[in-house]
Amino acid sequence: MPPLSSSRFLLVTTIAVSAILGFLGVLFLLASAMDPMRLWVGIILVGIALVLVAFASKSLVKPPSITVHWSPSGEMKLEELKCPNCSAPLQIENPSVTRIVCQYCGQVVEIVEEPMW
Ligand SMILES: [Zn+2]
Repeated sequence: MPPLSSSRFLLVTTIAVSAILGFLGVLFLLASAMDPMRLWVGIILVGIALVLVAFASKSLVKPPSITVHWSPSGEMKLEELKCPNCSAPLQIENPSVTRIVCQYCGQVVEIVEEPMW
């Protein structure tokens, strides 16, 4: 899966860059006793590192939310629907289909999207 590996590469790169920036920032902060300008450089470097870490942790949270989105549509396929007219089992071939015709009596059944939980 190329998109997953590229996002993972980006994540690892982001963490590595933020670690280097944070390390340099701390070094500048420690050396700020000799030069006040280093204090600002250190603060900026640590700030950038913190922003990158926040970005990386945000993208770490993303994949589980995609899994949560996928599971309801998987369960909907397995859901057994019955014809309201003759109570014959209705088969949904495509989860995006909102209207099916009963194979036994020809009744048109509208599928209303309702949350499963
Ligand atoms: Zn029917």
